[in-house]
Amino acid sequence: MEIIVGAILTQNVSWKNVEKSIERIKASGFMDMDTLISMDDEVLHDFIRSTGYYRQKAGRLKELLKFIKENYGNIENMVFDTNLREKLLAIKGIGKETADSILLYALDLPYFVVDAYTFRIFRRIGIIEESNKVKYEDIREMVEKSLGKNVNDLKEFHALLVALGKDHCKKVPVCEGCPLYSICQRKI
Ligand code: SF4
Repeated sequence: MEIIVGAILTQNVSWKNVEKSIERIKASGFMDMDTLISMDDEVLHDFIRSTGYYRQKAGRLKELLKFIKENYGNIENMVFDTNLREKLLAIKGIGKETADSILLYALDLPYFVVDAYTFRIFRRIGIIEESNKVKYEDIREMVEKSLGKNVNDLKEFHALLVALGKDHCKKVPVCEGCPLYSICQRKI
């Protein structure tokens, strides 16, 4: 449940802001599907205000939780739906990154999460050409093919890219000490 809530709340905001909201919801004993679905909008807004776009996110979270409850009863049952990704993507406000975060981290299904760090690092090291308008799905499929759809490898690879993006490959890159320095085309 926490991962699903986090996947919605982290849209367009740093994880730090999301953590506070998740901790507050947990500490109040409200991290539960039925409780969140029936929660008064004003109360939910108050819990998630620090994540920005809180009205929109509250609506999206409730929509997603209602979808899960009505179609599967609980989160665990979602793994048996072979068309789950398509169904998640059909829900308003659920994009590819959010859907794949839920599939990989909440359900342990072998989907790679392509985020802004992935695009930036892959462009800089030369996996994607600078001018190439490469699509989300192309990168996802390339990584999944390379890593053999192994869930733990997909999680670890994503986590390593996030760590690299935070520690070195920032908007203004800190190339000194970067573990990819020797192979990177854009090092400075
Ligand atoms: S060497 Fe610099 S530009 Fe290349 S991946 Fe590392 S931090 Fe990014």
